[in-house]
Amino acid sequence: MTSWNSFWRENAFGKASRFVYEHWRRQPGRLTVMILFMLAATLADTVAPLYAGRIVNALTEFGTNGDVARQHALVDFSIMMGLGAVMIGARFVVFSGIVTFTLNMMPEVAREAFHKVQRLSSDWHANSFAGSTVRKITRAMWSLDGLNDTLILAMFSKVVMLVSASVLLWVYWPVLGLVVGVGSVLYVALVAGMSLGYIAPAAQLSNAWDTRVGGVLADSVSCNAVVKSFAGEHREDGFVGKVMNKWRRRTERTWRRFNLSFFIQMTAMWVFRAAILGTALMLAWTGQANAGDLTFVLTLFFLVQGYLQDVGQQVRNLQRAVNEMEELIDIHAVPVEVDDRPGAKALKVSQGEIAFDHVLFQYKGKATPLFKDFSVTIKPGERVGLVGHSGSGKSTFVKLIQRLYDINDGGILIDGQNVAAVTQESLRSQIALVPQEPILFHRTLAENISYARPGATLEDVIAAAKLANAHDFIEDLPKGYMTLVGERGIKLSGGERQRVALARAFLADAPILILDEATSSLDSQSEHLIQQAVERLMQGRTTLVVAHRLSTVKSMDRLLVFAKGEIVEEGTHQQLVGIPNGIYHGLYERQAMELAAGIAAE
Ligand code: ADP
Repeated sequence: MTSWNSFWRENAFGKASRFVYEHWRRQPGRLTVMILFMLAATLADTVAPLYAGRIVNALTEFGTNGDVARQHALVDFSIMMGLGAVMIGARFVVFSGIVTFTLNMMPEVAREAFHKVQRLSSDWHANSFAGSTVRKITRAMWSLDGLNDTLILAMFSKVVMLVSASVLLWVYWPVLGLVVGVGSVLYVALVAGMSLGYIAPAAQLSNAWDTRVGGVLADSVSCNAVVKSFAGEHREDGFVGKVMNKWRRRTERTWRRFNLSFFIQMTAMWVFRAAILGTALMLAWTGQANAGDLTFVLTLFFLVQGYLQDVGQQVRNLQRAVNEMEELIDIHAVPVEVDDRPGAKALKVSQGEIAFDHVLFQYKGKATPLFKDFSVTIKPGERVGLVGHSGSGKSTFVKLIQRLYDINDGGILIDGQNVAAVTQESLRSQIALVPQEPILFHRTLAENISYARPGATLEDVIAAAKLANAHDFIEDLPKGYMTLVGERGIKLSGGERQRVALARAFLADAPILILDEATSSLDSQSEHLIQQAVERLMQGRTTLVVAHRLSTVKSMDRLLVFAKGEIVEEGTHQQLVGIPNGIYHGLYERQAMELAAGIAAE
């Protein structure tokens, strides 16, 4: 029992069934109505051949028993037409119902997946292709369309049809009922077995490669700037070509398997047909069936055949839908990792003190912890510069304050409140972040800036942009604040993007400010404007600046020099620069030399 349970839990069909069931049960009324009407439509379809047989029997009696026979024929004909009307009418109701049913589910599934994806950890996002994730969500959304149609319209009616046809025949000729019942079960088992055991594993693999092709293309296209700068076009052609080749091989295997199983199914259907016709003829031969009976059996058989004909297709549709859904279900199964604790309260910042208290932190996949027994306190309103070689732990330090990762031991406290115990939303809304490479949405500049404070008016946005020294360049754009950024809009220079990010930070008006300086040097005009805005922004806020260019840090209250996850030097610029052979001294000297060389080169 346990093994069956675990099989069901881990098996794609099990996972998909539970997933679909969860969604179906949100619309119980509509589902019940559809099932009842589908039942009525299929039963009407199944019973109709009985009346076809009766009409033929009546026809044979036209010569001997004219009037009565004609009347019988007329009644049977009317019943047949009535059954047809029931079948068509009921199906119409089901088809109408399924439109709403499916359209209620599709956005729901996409919304829930998007909800989950957004809350997954930074680590997960760093390790997933955005393109693949988008495809997984949209594919799963569309797979529901196919899945509902297959299960409710196709599969359900097939089962009802086959059971009722077998029972109906059984009542008249048990042997025929047995042949149809057993035959259809064998046929469905053969088709389903081939689809699931033979085609599915291949399809799963080719699907994975399908996703990979999308991911690789998206990655390469979005990194086009890097490709260009390293003249890597040929390398990328080759790389994408290799992936396409692999995709081709996997997909070919799947398609060939489809082909072979289709051939086997056609053969099986012919055997089934021979068995039914043979049995019916034998019954006629031995006088157990007349012309009307044969008509009934034949018509019913053609109906059964019609229902069975596309069973392979349906099982494959089902399989495909299940596979496509599985990728999304797996996303739902990924632990959020950084999650709000039950009953987490909102962070209240009154002073803006940040304290690391004996913090132990290790990145997953790293052999050793980055921070060990790490303690430091940033006083309220203090301006602290973080310096050190690349990889020394500066960015991680600020990521931990934002709780983008959970620490392994110790605590990070803001005004005495543990960041792990407060809601992430309240924590992050109290921290304004100006990242190294500001990321802007493909939306208008006004929307991009106001992202920092939902509900901000255009006046608020303009005021923030003015403080960030961004107003003038925005005003000069053809559509001002309504200019679209990115692909369809304008391209902003590095310095302009920085100022948009600063405007966001002004608007966020958070008590804690984290600035990750751009590594690339900006022209002196931009540098000056940014510096001025940063000075303004730091007023009255606890500020952490990850300094790459050491131009900002001279005016800082304190500098923390990081090396391999430890603070190795601490003090003001003046104090640190005076330590001979100190790390800061070395960094400063080198930058000063580079700067001088740069100026000389100009
Ligand atoms: P800095 O900002 O000083 O350049 P980081 O904080 O980015 O340094 O990195 C510190 C160390 O942590 C480096 O060894 C880096 O490789 C590692 N690291 C950073 N991010 C991750 C991550 N997401 N997963 C694993 N290791 C990481």
